[in-house]
Amino acid sequence: MSVKPLVAGNWKMNPEAGNFVELASQILEEISKIEGVTKVVCPPSVALREVSNALEGSHVLVGAQDGHPEASGAITGEVAMGMLSSVCTYVIVGHSERRAMFGETDEYVARKAVSAIASGLSPILCIGESLDVRDAGDALSYVHDQLVASLDGVDNPETLVIGYEPVWAIGTGVSARPDVAGEMAESIRSTLTGLYGGEAALNVPILYGGSVSPENIGPYIDRPHINGALVGGASLKPSDFGRIVSLVASIRG
Ligand code: PEP
Repeated sequence: MSVKPLVAGNWKMNPEAGNFVELASQILEEISKIEGVTKVVCPPSVALREVSNALEGSHVLVGAQDGHPEASGAITGEVAMGMLSSVCTYVIVGHSERRAMFGETDEYVARKAVSAIASGLSPILCIGESLDVRDAGDALSYVHDQLVASLDGVDNPETLVIGYEPVWAIGTGVSARPDVAGEMAESIRSTLTGLYGGEAALNVPILYGGSVSPENIGPYIDRPHINGALVGGASLKPSDFGRIVSLVASIRG
């Protein structure tokens, strides 16, 4: 598999103290010398510019955690993808917290993905099933349908990244079994192949996310269709994040 591995840290609404540049600098110290992995940090939108400036020239890239599909307008509190593109390279779309807390539908997420790509951003499109869906034995078909619907209108997957994040594994300390995540990644690859053809599908990094730590990352990265990780809690701990990036590099880089 030729796709370059990728590790992205989703800081969510952290750190509370607002010391964004300090965290970015500590992370930089841990990961700047690690090669063979695309490294991304996603701070809150208020910090995108300062973190971007702090990381300039470092090969650590910056991502936003969300963006609005419209280019401009009377939409209080929102930031357009085009506006984000001057301060970052990636943007997370469809994170399960946004789907759950803000009622984001697959259709809306697809509009974000289309707008992100049109704005020159790489969308990290998050998908994943709830525990109810998994327990009912419907996870593969649910995620297939969610992925297809969330990619509606995305014609070119060249800059696309997929984050498979089972909802029950996010922030819970209960990570998916690597074989379960690996099976889903294979199914996601097959869905992408159906949509875009085999060669294009092989170039889409598929990340696992959900309680990733330095202790558990290895077996995920051993799976043929998992190309990296989307990391929440552990991305706020520079040495843990550094160890995750380093392990991904040593296994896949
Ligand atoms: C996330 O929210 O994208 C995530 C993977 O969180 P955590 O690593 O904390 O489970």
